[in-house]
Amino acid sequence: MAHRTPLLLTDVYDPEALAVRFWARVSKGDGCWLWTGHISTNGYAQIWVMYDGRGHTIPASRVAYLLEHGALDRELLVCHTCDNPPCVRPSHLWQGTTAQNIEDCARKGRRAPHAGEGHWRAVMTAATVEAARARYAAGGVTQKRLAFEAGVSKEVMHHALHGHTYPRGGS
Ligand SMILES: [Zn+2]
Repeated sequence: MAHRTPLLLTDVYDPEALAVRFWARVSKGDGCWLWTGHISTNGYAQIWVMYDGRGHTIPASRVAYLLEHGALDRELLVCHTCDNPPCVRPSHLWQGTTAQNIEDCARKGRRAPHAGEGHWRAVMTAATVEAARARYAAGGVTQKRLAFEAGVSKEVMHHALHGHTYPRGGS
């Protein structure tokens, strides 16, 4: 167990500045709080953080958890009670093992959150697709951002936007 000790907020370089930088990239709503910052090629919310003497690009949900609780178990995942990967609202986040996370998803009737290249493979509802098409048509939002918010890959969103996967106006 090389990293049994948790990562503490006090281990992070300039935690106050990190908190400011972090929350400036969050859109707070009544329910989930969505990440508006950097999205990785694979569609994950990410932020750059300095600790252990070097910079790390880590999931935004982990930083949200760390900022809230002051400590993060390095070996556990940060999971969502809301099943919404772009969400970084601290009250929606909990730490668990991979097995616990898979069990949680199974109980909620969803697939394991990570498959293939590690991407969330949720299935979009027709309503989600219609809403995404409307926003994309209105402009000012990328396919990557829409995919991120819907919890699907860019490819899935691309096909949905162009009607290859989800029939337009259908059920
Ligand atoms: Zn949430």
